[in-house]
Amino acid sequence: MEKKVLAELAAIVGAENVSTATSDRITHSYDATQQRFLPQVVVYAHSTAEVSAVVQLANRHRLPILPRGAGSGFTGGSLPIKGGIVLVLTRMDKIIEIDSDNLIAEVEPGVVTADLQREVERLGLFYPPDPASKEFSTLGGNVAEGAGGPRCVKYGVTKDYVLGLEVVTPSGEVIRTGGRTLKNVVGYDLTRLFVGSEGTLGIITRIILKLLPKPAAKKTMLVQFATIDGAAQAVSAIIGAKIIPTTLEFLDAATIDCIRGVSRVAIAGNCRAILIIEVDGDAEVLDRQVREILAVIEPFGILDTRIAATDAESEEIWQVRRIVSPSLRKVNPDKFNEDIVVPRSKVPEMIRALEKIAARYQVPIVNFGHAGDGNIHVNVMVDIRQPGMAETVDKVMEEIFQAAVALRGSISGEHGIGTAKAKYLDLELDPATITYMRTIKAALDPNNILNPGKIFRGDQPISPAGPAGLPA
Ligand SMILES: Cc1cc2nc3c(=O)[nH]c(=O)nc-3n(C[C@H](O)[C@H](O)[C@H](O)COP(=O)(O)OP(=O)(O)OC[C@H]3O[C@@H](n4cnc5c(N)ncnc54)[C@H](O)[C@@H]3O)c2cc1C
Repeated sequence: MEKKVLAELAAIVGAENVSTATSDRITHSYDATQQRFLPQVVVYAHSTAEVSAVVQLANRHRLPILPRGAGSGFTGGSLPIKGGIVLVLTRMDKIIEIDSDNLIAEVEPGVVTADLQREVERLGLFYPPDPASKEFSTLGGNVAEGAGGPRCVKYGVTKDYVLGLEVVTPSGEVIRTGGRTLKNVVGYDLTRLFVGSEGTLGIITRIILKLLPKPAAKKTMLVQFATIDGAAQAVSAIIGAKIIPTTLEFLDAATIDCIRGVSRVAIAGNCRAILIIEVDGDAEVLDRQVREILAVIEPFGILDTRIAATDAESEEIWQVRRIVSPSLRKVNPDKFNEDIVVPRSKVPEMIRALEKIAARYQVPIVNFGHAGDGNIHVNVMVDIRQPGMAETVDKVMEEIFQAAVALRGSISGEHGIGTAKAKYLDLELDPATITYMRTIKAALDPNNILNPGKIFRGDQPISPAGPAGLPA
């Protein structure tokens, strides 16, 4: 990168917040996809004014600019696939206000999700969206990806909690959307436009979030089933009975085989599926809800039910869910993780479709996830070094997405499109809709500087940074 540009960046944020050091470029070259693309420079922002000035500079010099939170995205959203400036927002990490009277929090984008949750809970309040990455992901990243999590069955996803935003536009202007009221219908709903826009339409510099009162109590249970079909039907039966638990997580047989021996809860030898169910609310109604759930799922081949009597026992149950991700590599070294979503009643059909695809291509597919909202984490576990495996994975993915869309579902429930799913966008969206989206992007970012090459097909990466080489 030209020295002149680096000097201009240093004049905006201070020389100590501009780095071309190889170590900094490498540590900002990847996300949870494990792909790597080196930026030319890493810039740390501390204020909206700095973000605005850096975006204006990027426009003048036609440089790609990549907003970045914790870099925990699963679809390549924060990867600098065309080089340029990675703009790190983790140092804009102030909780500006928690307004208990109006049940609102105002935060900077770099606040870690769980930090806000702990702060509001100390005041008897509750911020429900709980991505499994909440201990490190940022609220800016959550809003940009439209993040979800286990509690979303009952409480909804990030978009349901965003009341207003401050955004630096691709031309460097600062705009404010929405506000601090629950109701607001003045002009277009720009807040919703930015939620889930994956850093392609603007850089979020402030977020106003809705809060709830903290539920008084919760009850957690783990139910073991003899068949995956039984568990899937139990999910449909719970929802069909109009019971909405806080969480309704499922693990399939392949997942269970991975966690046997490391799970703190004893798992029956013939267990082929697990549901982890949590309900929350007033203590008096919880026991009744648990009884209702047990009655509804009783016909579906239950082997064992464990109901936590204490917080420690609840933790033991949640440990079973938390060890899933790290245990999967027992199956094979490489994981291709997708987060399809189908209407809740279609979960059994989707599971059957996944079993057929796994059998047809002879690849292990390990499934777990948020069954209560139909969001299944599908993990194709392979050794990608095997000849022809990359092509096989491509075909498997396409069939998985086709199956989800055929059931009137979606190719992504919470991880977004990024680079990983751009080539599958037209499986779900018709050409006119894609053109409409592209028109919005082109109108707001005519120089295509803001996170270029994401969401839409055809805007290919320049070159990945392999372990062997560092492009200049
Ligand atoms: C172990 C693990 C578990 C996970 N579990 C879940 C889960 O349960 N649910 C779920 O939804 N996701 C999950 N994720 C994915 C990921 O954590 C979420 O997508 C999260 O919202 C990303 O936040 P981040 O701060 O890491 O953002 P990054 O990865 O840094 O960025 C993600 C996208 O947001 C954009 N962006 C970041 N900050 C801003 C900003 N201020 N303004 C504009 N654009 C911005 C980036 O350009 C990029 O496109 C998980 C990831 C891991 C590694």
